[in-house]
Amino acid sequence: MTELRPDCVVIHYHEIALKGDNRPMFVRRLTDNLRKTVQGLGKIRILTPRGRILLYLNEETPWLILSERLSGVFGSANFSPANRCSTEPEAIEAVIDRLLDSRTFETFRISARRSDKNHPLTSVELNIRLGRHVQDRTKARVDLEQPDLTIHVELLQREALVYFEKLAGPGGLPVGVSGHVLSLISGGIDSPVASYLMMKRGCTVGFVHFHGHPHLTKASLEKAEDLVRHLTRHQFESRLTAVAFGEIQRLIVLSVPPPLRVVLYRRFMIRIAEEIAHRERAKAIITGENLGQVASQTLENLTVIQEAARLPILRPLIGFDKDEIIETAKAIGTYSTSILPDQDCCRLFIPPHPSVAAKLNDIERAERKLDISGLVKMGLETVERFEFVWP
Ligand code: ATP
Ligand code: MG
Repeated sequence: MTELRPDCVVIHYHEIALKGDNRPMFVRRLTDNLRKTVQGLGKIRILTPRGRILLYLNEETPWLILSERLSGVFGSANFSPANRCSTEPEAIEAVIDRLLDSRTFETFRISARRSDKNHPLTSVELNIRLGRHVQDRTKARVDLEQPDLTIHVELLQREALVYFEKLAGPGGLPVGVSGHVLSLISGGIDSPVASYLMMKRGCTVGFVHFHGHPHLTKASLEKAEDLVRHLTRHQFESRLTAVAFGEIQRLIVLSVPPPLRVVLYRRFMIRIAEEIAHRERAKAIITGENLGQVASQTLENLTVIQEAARLPILRPLIGFDKDEIIETAKAIGTYSTSILPDQDCCRLFIPPHPSVAAKLNDIERAERKLDISGLVKMGLETVERFEFVWP
């Protein structure tokens, strides 16, 4: 007998199930996102019987590509390559037999779930019947605690689904249920991770990058582009807005004492970002800032930076250790790009001893010597936009 190819994928979600009245909206969004995820893989039907989402595959669906793609869809807790058959016990046994063909195992259990209560056998009865069948066929032992193999059977209204594996999804909420945010992405390690975490909470993320042009090359922008391209797999389309910041920094340097400069740069980035956020209807600004990681990231400085904006600045990494951030960056595939050398604009005109506790008064006094709206406008005039789509 030839090996049985999966003809279906069963996708389970958990957090969504907890969301009460929002649930239909969540499921709809997850379904839309799945539809985009399977683009280009031939005809795949998507169904949403209660509590799960089913993908009906076609003969040509490349399972490896599909499973790699599904592993990046937020909102899915786990997904399983499965085979469909009628709800008759004999039909289920026949599918199990074919799936067992290529397997060796000493212990197993059957985990039957019945979402259609009209089915003549209860799940316990089905467990017993199928368990006996597998035992007779394979001589394997039943172990309910730690079996080598779990045979999952889900009884729906008109069909049964049989599968062995549950592959981990990334969890989180479907991208798009939580609104749009704008992320400051530097090309470093932290901001791509911060952006990823916001997507995982269901946000669509727009990106803004500040490069040191005309005083530095645009190498940092290329990194930001690569990072955004990589992250786009989770939200299907992204926009990156690039702003030339070198001249603004130079003008700040001319009139602001060195210790205050880092906070001032950041406040100008935030002001420019806020204008872009309004154009994109983003509801918050995201940064990769983290408490105490560098001298300038103190509560005092974070507060003074927030004062430059009306939109909330969210910092998903605020309580992370650097090793945790690096670990996540490696897991999500951004680390190798982030550590490439670049010419980060923040290293341009950077003072040796930035203030660790900038006072709003001092900062505002320093800014009075600057044409704030003129500098913001100057930044906005340099804007370039890059669009990304996936797959
Ligand atoms: P990252 O690893 O994200 O660069 P970092 O630890 O280097 O962070 P900072 O350089 O202090 O920290 O930057 C703090 C945050 O400010 C960054 O995480 C990012 O959100 C934002 N930021 C810094 N530089 C830029 C830039 N050139 N363009 C866009 N955002 C930036
Ligand atoms: Mg940085």
